[in-house]
Amino acid sequence: MYDDIVEWRGHNPPPATMMIISDHVEGDFSWDLARLQQRTRYKLFMAYSVQTYKDLFLLRNAAWLWKKLLEEGGGAPLVAGGLSSAMFYCKSCKFDCQSLERFRKHLSSYKHGREEFTSARWYTGLECVTKTWRRNYRATPEHATAKIQVLWDMVKCPIPEGYDARLVRPSIEAAFKKIGYSGPVSITAYTDYKETPHHHLVGLSSTGVDLAHTLYWYKGSRMYDDVRQWENDNPAPASVMLISDVDRDDYIPSLISRYLQKSNYNCFLAYSFRPCKMTVMLTSAEWLWESLLSVFSEKRRRHILKKCSENASTGMFYCKLCYDWDCESLDEFTKHLSRSKTHARE
Ligand SMILES: [Zn+2]
Ligand SMILES: [Zn+2]
Repeated sequence: MYDDIVEWRGHNPPPATMMIISDHVEGDFSWDLARLQQRTRYKLFMAYSVQTYKDLFLLRNAAWLWKKLLEEGGGAPLVAGGLSSAMFYCKSCKFDCQSLERFRKHLSSYKHGREEFTSARWYTGLECVTKTWRRNYRATPEHATAKIQVLWDMVKCPIPEGYDARLVRPSIEAAFKKIGYSGPVSITAYTDYKETPHHHLVGLSSTGVDLAHTLYWYKGSRMYDDVRQWENDNPAPASVMLISDVDRDDYIPSLISRYLQKSNYNCFLAYSFRPCKMTVMLTSAEWLWESLLSVFSEKRRRHILKKCSENASTGMFYCKLCYDWDCESLDEFTKHLSRSKTHARE
């Protein structure tokens, strides 16, 4: 069934609608289909006898319970000669015909029986077509100058020992430029800022990186909320970058993948180590965090840092633990973290 879906997509460019009636759209099936949908978007209708919750990252335009669909959507029964136009396929033998008689005969033939036996023995599972897609693509014209939002998990991907925090933004921007993205970049860094060296706070905020204070246990949910807010505020085309170590089934990549299935969004990923399983999010580029940070030569670094001190900009400061709290001054931010009642108990 999956091979036929892939083949059908190859012959029928969108706009088009695809309906899948099955209880077995999960595992590799839904994972690969969700990734296909992020590059080529079809309307996807589904029907199933039992709803599963294992593949919530797959975006459906409509879904029905099979029994209900037959009862309510029924109308007049489609009999009276309707069968004559249907095709019959045997997927084991790559056999097809237009007559029910011939089809029945084929299914009871020796040749068919032998084919079923061998194909059952050699069945190795579903072949994911998106697994071989390479990771770095050049920007399409509509994404080349579109806005890019970076969500940076500073706990999983910290600033390396001895690294100047002011180089983070220019390094990220240089990595984007290399593959053709030159749109405005907003960066938000999430961590516990009570535990962060002060020179990092100064270095990041003076280069326009927004700082979002959160604790380890809340970090994921606050970033998740911000991804949702990002989609709300940024109609496609736009890009989002996640800097964090993610698993195949993590909920932030799942959410981003749904947005990519819905509209012409684009996403990037950086991690401290390459994940053993590809995420469901179809990335346009991926980097190892430490190599992304070391793009500049020593000479170039000195030049960039000199320019940084000449034209400093300021990032925003958010406290993700106090409802709707933000400010524009580092002093006020550090005061808030050290003095307010909520944070004294952390
Ligand atoms: Zn057959
Ligand atoms: Zn606070």
